[in-house]
Amino acid sequence: MKLRKLATFGGITLGVLGAGLAIHTFLPQRFAIEAPWYEAKKEPVPRLHTSSLPEIDVAFLRCGSITLPEAIAVRGASPLASCVITYSAVLVCHPQATFLYDTGLCANISTYFAHQSLFIRKLLGSFELEQSLNSHLTAMGIAREEIAFALLSHLHWDHVSGIPELPGVPLRVNRVEYEAAKLGLLDAHNGLVRQLMGDNPIELFDCTGPPYEGFHASFDVFGDGSLVLVPLPGHTAGNTGLFINRSNGPRLLLLGDAAWVSQNYTRPATMHPFLWNMFTWDDATARQTLIELYHLARRHPEIALVGMHDAEMQERLMATERP
Ligand SMILES: [Zn+2]
Repeated sequence: MKLRKLATFGGITLGVLGAGLAIHTFLPQRFAIEAPWYEAKKEPVPRLHTSSLPEIDVAFLRCGSITLPEAIAVRGASPLASCVITYSAVLVCHPQATFLYDTGLCANISTYFAHQSLFIRKLLGSFELEQSLNSHLTAMGIAREEIAFALLSHLHWDHVSGIPELPGVPLRVNRVEYEAAKLGLLDAHNGLVRQLMGDNPIELFDCTGPPYEGFHASFDVFGDGSLVLVPLPGHTAGNTGLFINRSNGPRLLLLGDAAWVSQNYTRPATMHPFLWNMFTWDDATARQTLIELYHLARRHPEIALVGMHDAEMQERLMATERP
């Protein structure tokens, strides 16, 4: 009898502890965002003069989506609110080249998931395909031959899933990302990413240019200051952001997956630890990048920082972009 009481008591204690831990993962987490060196600096931050820069048109091509509780995308957010996560490509039209930043989804993405385990199909493959990359390009009257290259923010499956509709188009990848992916990401899930990348030529680039807007290195794509790549590591080893500076619209920073949605850097807050731990290459580095984005957003409210899964921001920006 005593033993049974003890077992019941132990079970209840474990249950309460477990519930406590589960609730804890939905509570906000402290970030070291204090920066007295910056707060004390009262003079206004100089703004980039964009009038002499080229006109660059930008279009977010939303290929798919999934609706999640916001507390999954943003730790500490209300568990009652929901949040749309998109799978997008970005079409960038610079006078020297029309290219893509990430690639969205191809029409037959489901066939690439057919041989995955049930767990992977449910975890990664339960998005809704809305409009494939090719369908977007066709609707816009853009031939595949006009796409000079696809710049990949990083090598997770959901950023390379439009490549089957871009045969022969060169893929530009940060060398850090590619070298790291060769050690694991390319072959994960039975080589899903390798299959999606097909035999497209790969062109590696290095962010060996000077510090830029607080980031320690950069790569100026056309050497005119309009398109500047910066390392935003942590989510993966070589996740790379793209600044778009132009005379015909607001400055943008495309984040890859350094943040899923804007609340990740405005609060700042990671995703729910369940996803964060599953998808993040290096926790400390990814948090540092979020802190840097937090400060950048405060220093430069005129720059729109856009995550590749951020439906709300992408929609808001598309409302003001010219068609
Ligand atoms: Zn992603």
